[in-house]
This record gives sequence, structure tokens and C-alpha cells, in this order.
Amino acid sequence: MIAGAGVVGLGTALLLCRDGHDVTVLERDAEAPPAGTDAIWESWQRKGVNQFRLPHFFLARYRRLLSTELPDVAEALAAAGAIRLNTVLDAPETVRGPARDDDGAFEVISARRCVVEAAVASVAERSPRLEIRRGAPVAGLVTGPAARDDVPHVVGVGLATGEEIAADLVVDMTGRRSPLPRWLEAIGARAPRDELDDCGFVYYGRHFRSASGDIPPSIGGFLQHLGTISSLTLPADNGTWSVTLVTSAQDKALRALHNAETWEKTMRSLPLVAHWLDGEPIDDRVMAIAGIEDRHRNLMVGGTPVATGVVAAGDAWACSNPSVGRGVSIGMLQATVLRDTISATGLEDPWEFACSFHDATADIVEPWYRDTLAADRHRLAEIDALIEGKEYRPADPGWEVSQALTAAALKDPDCLRGFVTVAMVLSRETDVLSGPGMLEKVTALGGDWRDEPIPAPSREELPSTVAYG
Ligand SMILES: Cc1cc2nc3c(=O)[nH]c(=O)nc-3n(C[C@H](O)[C@H](O)[C@H](O)COP(=O)(O)OP(=O)(O)OC[C@H]3O[C@@H](n4cnc5c(N)ncnc54)[C@H](O)[C@@H]3O)c2cc1C
Repeated sequence: MIAGAGVVGLGTALLLCRDGHDVTVLERDAEAPPAGTDAIWESWQRKGVNQFRLPHFFLARYRRLLSTELPDVAEALAAAGAIRLNTVLDAPETVRGPARDDDGAFEVISARRCVVEAAVASVAERSPRLEIRRGAPVAGLVTGPAARDDVPHVVGVGLATGEEIAADLVVDMTGRRSPLPRWLEAIGARAPRDELDDCGFVYYGRHFRSASGDIPPSIGGFLQHLGTISSLTLPADNGTWSVTLVTSAQDKALRALHNAETWEKTMRSLPLVAHWLDGEPIDDRVMAIAGIEDRHRNLMVGGTPVATGVVAAGDAWACSNPSVGRGVSIGMLQATVLRDTISATGLEDPWEFACSFHDATADIVEPWYRDTLAADRHRLAEIDALIEGKEYRPADPGWEVSQALTAAALKDPDCLRGFVTVAMVLSRETDVLSGPGMLEKVTALGGDWRDEPIPAPSREELPSTVAYG
């Protein structure tokens, strides 16, 4: 049983069904996706997902998973008008060098978030062994005899209507605002260990559409750190794309970005980004989101599970700074870990399963969360330093080399592929840099990254800062 029919929840359900399990997905929101991308964008009500109409981009790791595990979802996405692009081969040949045999790994299939979710849902809804019940909010957990040591053992869930649904395993996939700690408390379980942090960024984004169906060219990358702001320019489906400015929540001077006119002036002041505004806005205002938590939930406390028969996955397990676009790729990576752990360990011994799933998640998935968290903290500290007019020089060689890799990506085809490999969640930075000669090359070509000009007005000249006065 899966609580939550979000984009990762449904993807997880599909993986489990195809491995021979019967899966019921219980979703709080009542509405199924309407037919047609315009209706999906304009009218599908998804109050359960705050970021439902905010800019998203789906990375090569997700595309690879769809190609190998869920090709019918990739087909549904293509049919819905998703864009396919190659994050290396689409760069100028002067930067990427000649095409290589394995460059297909960098291919991406992406679309607006609601369009991707509708495509996954369309496949899930006709999938054998899978039942989706919408308008069925889970209200709590149901327990049976403990598997071991008086630790509560979950055997199903209770709905708000009082109905109880039995399950061999309950997977909490209710997203960033998962109520699992409350549910666990109600069955007498120890509290899970939550690490919580407001990730400290604010997003100001809009979507556009071109009359021709063309998408503006990316110059300088989808994500650019431009002093105290970052820009995100993300191609999507059916000639649409999104443009976002990301700032620190502490940066009061930039709050004027809520205002559409100030937002546009600020965007137009960025030479590598301004051309992304040349389309028709398809949302009626600048969409802002703040208070997005970095959160990691651990159901193993003191070396033992707080409960058996229940696990957390997707954003309900961990969520972090969305500007790097990793949430769905990391969530679906964990979905494969869940499927493989069930297959290897079985569910007959719930204690063993809980420990095995925890260990496999910690080994395979958590490092991606930790890397993202570390990068977020550096970026926020860098913004704070820049606001004060100081240079950010942390005593962390990992951060230095990461910045050097970003700078070297524009100067060397190997460094470009190394950078994109990390950005697309294909391999971690430590693995990329341990390749033959990579660290030396990155240091030689990118070590002077602080001297690179920033293609943006100074902070004092930014229209949003000027508007603040
Ligand atoms: C601003 C922003 C931008 C982002 N951009 C990107 C991006 O570019 N690329 C990327 O990969 N990721 C991005 N993410 C992250 C991505 O949105 C999440 O990783 C993804 O939605 C997680 O999917 P999920 O299925 O785990 O949870 P969700 O999509 O949050 O779904 C949870 C579901 O649970 C349901 N639910 C809640 N409570 C209950 C209940 N009691 N009973 C039943 N159902 C319940 C909700 O209604 C919802 O449908 C972004 C996030 C934010 C905040």
C-alpha cells in the first residue's frame, strides 16, 4: 500500500506492480488528471502538492530509469509533447568536442511538472495489479502483533472515513509535509529522527509559451549562479518553458521580485537569460515559494526500527533544495532500492526488511541527499557573504573543486561531461573526480574560477535591489 499518488509515489507503484506485487495507492486529492495538456495545466486541482505548477526539470537519471524500467511512461510523456534534449550534445561543438559513443546517457525527457505527473498517472491507471483510489486520505496506521521486541508492527492504514485497509507493507509517500511522525506517535512508536532545516531559498518563477513551438537556446546552462541570485531556465513540453530567479530567504532587498514588473526588469538585466522572456506568459503572476525545508527522516533510531511494516520514501523520506532538480531522480532511485530490497529480503520477516531497506537507502540514496545539502549550505553562505560585500572562502576543498569543475566545464569536453554527469545525477562528484587525470585537469582549468566574470549587473545595479531602494 502506498499513501500518496505524487509523481514518485505513482512511479514506485508501477515498479512494484511490475515486480509482481499488488499495490493500492491512496491519494488525498480527489481529482484524476483531465484529458489534454491544456486542461492539465489550467484546471487539474492538486492541493496536496504545493509545487504542482512551479518550474520543474527532469534529469537524465530519470530519463534513464524510464527507458530501462518504465518505457511506456517515456512513451506517454513523448505523446504528451515532452521535450527530448541532450545536455552535452546540444552544447556547441567547440565546447563539447566530437560526439562520443556514450553521450546518449545525457539525454533528458522533460515537461511541466503537472504534465509529467499526468503521463505517469495515465500509465498507472491502466496498469494491472495497481489500484489508485483518489479522494482517500490516509488518517493513520493500523497495527497487529509486534514482529519483535514490542516494536509496533503496522498491518494497514485507516482512512478518514473509518475504513481500514490491510497491507503487507505501508509506504509513506505523502511528500514534504508527510504526517508520519504523528501517525507513529498514535500507535505508540518512538519518534523517527528528523533532521530539519529551512533550505533558505525563495523561488520566483513563471512559465512561457512560444507561438512557433520553439524553445529559446540555453546559453551558459540551465542553472546559473549570478552573485546573490541564481537563474533557472528550463525547457518543457509543447513549446513551453519556465524562467525562475532563486534568492536567499534572508535577502530582504530582493523580495520585490514578487512584483511582475520588477521580476521582468531583473530578468532582462541578465544578458544570458533575457531572451527566455521572449514568449507569452502562461501563468497570471510570478509564482513564489519559500519555506522549503531540507528534511531527512530516519525510521531507525538507536539501531532499531521505530516500527515495522511501514517505511518512508520519496519526499516523505528526504527532500532538499529543488533548484538542482534532483527530487524525482533521487526519489525514483529509492523506488528501485525499495523494489530490490523487497525482492531480495521479502516481507515475511518485517524486522529484517526494515533494517535492510534502511541500510540500502543509506548506502545508495542518502549520499545524493547529503551532497545536495552540502552544496545548498555553501551556496547560502556564499550569498550571505556576497551581500556583505565579502568573498566566500570556506575551508572546504570539496566546495573549491566543485566550483572549479563548473568553470572547467566550459573549457574542456571531459570536464563538461564530468560536470553534466554530476548535475544529471548519473554519478557523484567524488566518483567523477577520481577518474584518471580529472582532478588535475579540473584544478588546472577551473582553479581560477573566482576570476571569471559574472554575466549579471552588480548587486547594487540589479533592478530588484533598486526597487527596494
Ligand atoms: C519549488 C519546487 C521545485 C521543484 N523542482 C524539481 C525539479 O525541477 N526536478 C525534480 O526532480 N524535482 C523537483 N522538485 C521536487 C519534486 O517536486 C519532488 O521530489 C516530488 O514531487 C516528490 O514526489 P512524491 O511522490 O514523493 O511526493 P509529492 O509529489 O509531494 O506527492 C505526495 C502526495 O501525497 C498526497 N498526500 C498527502 N497526504 C496524504 C494523505 N494523508 N493521504 C493520502 N495522500 C496524501 C498528496 O496529495 C500528494 O499527491 C521540486 C520541488 C519544489 C518544492
